Amino acid sequence: MSSVRVAINGFGTIGKRVARAIQAQPDMSVSGVTKTGPSHGCGLAQRLNLPLYCTSDDLEDIAAFEKGGYNVEGGLSDLLANSDIVIDCAPGKMGQSNHQKYVDAGIKHIFQGGEKHSLTGLSYTSSANHKENIDAKGTRVVSCNTTGLARTLIPLRDATGELSVECTMIRRAADPGDSRKGPINAIAPVLKVPSHHGPDLMTVAGGIGITSLAVAVPTTIMHVHSIVVELPGGHGMTTDSVLDLWAKTPRVISMSGSIDKIPSTAEVMEMARDIGRPWGDLHEIFVWTDGASLDGNTLRYFQAIHQESDVIPENVDAVRALMGMEHDWRASVEITDSSIAASLV
Ligand code: NAD
Repeated sequence: MSSVRVAINGFGTIGKRVARAIQAQPDMSVSGVTKTGPSHGCGLAQRLNLPLYCTSDDLEDIAAFEKGGYNVEGGLSDLLANSDIVIDCAPGKMGQSNHQKYVDAGIKHIFQGGEKHSLTGLSYTSSANHKENIDAKGTRVVSCNTTGLARTLIPLRDATGELSVECTMIRRAADPGDSRKGPINAIAPVLKVPSHHGPDLMTVAGGIGITSLAVAVPTTIMHVHSIVVELPGGHGMTTDSVLDLWAKTPRVISMSGSIDKIPSTAEVMEMARDIGRPWGDLHEIFVWTDGASLDGNTLRYFQAIHQESDVIPENVDAVRALMGMEHDWRASVEITDSSIAASLV
């Protein structure tokens, strides 16, 4: 199959990362990225040789780019006409109006976790439901939190059977590049109890009953999940066999807080910077081996989520599913991850 042309509508925190991950793939290319108007992000698009378009078709909006000193190829309609699929990376809850534009243009589309499942009626996580997404018209890559839950819980469900899960999400207040959000000196519980975060997993995976609580804390670098899982009776697992299972699971990294000297998210992110991906990203979910314990049927563990990047390779796999390019999720994950790794050397 010839290279699939991928448009990226919205070139912010997620959009710029998705663009670089797509650029690294052998079977797809970036047809263009959009910005709402001139800003430093336009300069990044130019440095990465990404054709730049305006999010609207309004001629005044398009002309503003030239006034700001940036070359622009046209509006969103022009980009969609030159593309096979679009990945929507606009801020959350903008999906409804963008969705209509994609439907009108007759183009396949992928949304992000800031949108509701009902927008497309289909969601995506590689390990959960790649097959269900094959040849679909549109989908939504689930949020960073849901992606993290899927990575560690789906292999457990597959190894043991139906799970009952209670998760507390300790959430970063804002992304590092965001000066608008908080708290900066408070701990803010989400008072809608239970929170919406955990149950979102049920949009991609059956056999996992889950509820969650969430609390925002003054950090920008990661979320931490504190998870309690009731395994089915007769599960036959031990703490070590659970850790072995995760060690064999793609996009999960497990290390010891005490032996590897990685006791908090600060050291996890330093380790991520050592890997050398752009922006110091960590696509993998991080599990502390010495923070996991199975007692009877009850498994307790902590995991850390790099909120800006765990969904990035999932978007690449979602393109392969919707375009019918690879039916096996493990094969897609292998192509995605090895191509990103090769692009770093
Ligand atoms: P962002 O604010 O960093 O970037 C959004 C970009 O879209 C900006 O460049 C903005 O100018 C542009 N934009 C504004 N209006 C637009 C429109 N109508 N059409 C297209 N683009 C438009 O946001 P983000 O953090 O990249 O989030 C994008 C999506 O990804 C959201 O659904 C969010 O919930 C989801 N998500 C974010 C994170 C995270 O940690 N940042 C993690 C997982 C999922």
